Amino acid sequence: MAGRNGTVVCPGSYDPVTNGHLDIITRSSQVFERVVVGVVNNPVRKGRTMFTAEERQAFIEDATVELANVEARVFSNLLVEFAREMDAKAIVKGLRAISDFEYEFEMAQLNRKLDPGLESIYMIASPQYSFLSSTGVREMATFGGDVADLVPGPVAAAMAERLGER
Ligand code: ADP
Repeated sequence: MAGRNGTVVCPGSYDPVTNGHLDIITRSSQVFERVVVGVVNNPVRKGRTMFTAEERQAFIEDATVELANVEARVFSNLLVEFAREMDAKAIVKGLRAISDFEYEFEMAQLNRKLDPGLESIYMIASPQYSFLSSTGVREMATFGGDVADLVPGPVAAAMAERLGER
């Protein structure tokens, strides 16, 4: 059918990317033809992220080198516009606890209003990652907790280095 294609966008802050994000990205890459990981560069929050958008993008690229149909890009416009630019037919997001649901329900309705042709698809988090968030990882690392099992190796190293600079 005309108008169909296999591109999806997985949006997020990814500050930094966690094994939970990578689980969703990997599973998406097994279902869809092309997965564009969209790294939000929110100018309002500039300086409040631990890593710059380009650093966050580089961590994702590094962790997904073996997934040929995955690419990471930074965007700073509306998600529906970015998805259109990428020629995506859907947004794919991970769902963890019930608490994610309320927010995602609202976002999906807003995005549907902005672009009724763009579908929102939700993938349930794998049980081992359902309590994993970037915020949690940052907090743990700040207080000296070991995040080695939660994020890719280079991310853990970069976090230790960044926190050491303070
Ligand atoms: P976070 O909530 O960790 O700060 P982001 O804003 O970067 O994450 O989220 C990007 C997307 O990844 C969202 O759809 C979010 O629900 C999803 N996600 C985040 N952590 C996980 C996880 N551990 N398992 C599954 N999906 C997740």
